[in-house]
Amino acid sequence: MIQDIQPHIYDNAYHPRRPEGSDIVLDYREQSVLLKTNREYFTVADLHEPQDLYYLFSIDEKAYYLGSLPVDESAEEPIAIMRTMEPREAGFAGITGWQLWKWLRQHRYCGCCGAEMQQDSKERAMRCPECGEIVYPVISPAVIVGILSPEGKMLMTKYAKTRSPHQRYALVAGYAEIGETIEQTVSREVMEETGLKVTNIRYYKSQPWSFSGTLLFGFWCDVVGSEEIHLDEEELWLAEWKNRDDEMDLQSDISLTGEMIRVFRSGGVSYGH
Ligand SMILES: [Zn+2]
Repeated sequence: MIQDIQPHIYDNAYHPRRPEGSDIVLDYREQSVLLKTNREYFTVADLHEPQDLYYLFSIDEKAYYLGSLPVDESAEEPIAIMRTMEPREAGFAGITGWQLWKWLRQHRYCGCCGAEMQQDSKERAMRCPECGEIVYPVISPAVIVGILSPEGKMLMTKYAKTRSPHQRYALVAGYAEIGETIEQTVSREVMEETGLKVTNIRYYKSQPWSFSGTLLFGFWCDVVGSEEIHLDEEELWLAEWKNRDDEMDLQSDISLTGEMIRVFRSGGVSYGH
């Protein structure tokens, strides 16, 4: 998956240090990233004049910062380029940096008193100098659900075209609502999107998914009672029970959805029935 960058080590402890020439400088536009014209990242050494760089995180010995890049020397690429960027740690760094860039941009002013926020010097947070309000990076929990039938099938979906441009098979998914456990999110999302009732909800893995500012929790569960689907057509345009060996175009292996579909197809799911 996109965060699996071993043997490289992602260090998200907030310990700003003096930038070195080989450290990376990231800069973004709304839905895009600025890269050098050779599609590599800018380094501190590429900057023409000194500027305040905002420390993001490190991967191995290399630190990543946000800064202002020379637009006339850069190529603007859609943020989706991070899905396929090589090496994988570069893609992971680029999408994680984008989530932080968006968070910083959305919190330039205090939501309580309207004063201009300042970057905290000790932790990854924005602090209001007037009223003391502190804002940390916003992470939204969500679930990805592999729904299994007693016959060993899994429910595969396709998102409504108005919701997502991706038309490969996916799984039921949705954000946690306020006041519910993540297991309740699973039951509620499955019911809302498909009308199915599920049991034996069991945790699989999680994944940071900065494309949507999400921390994804993957679950397997078993359908109980009727397997008849009542589709929420605002969310999905297709939901159908699939056998392991049915033909389908697979998602790439960077996503938890893609991995869960692959695990199902390889027979690696533990069944609760
Ligand atoms: Zn304030």
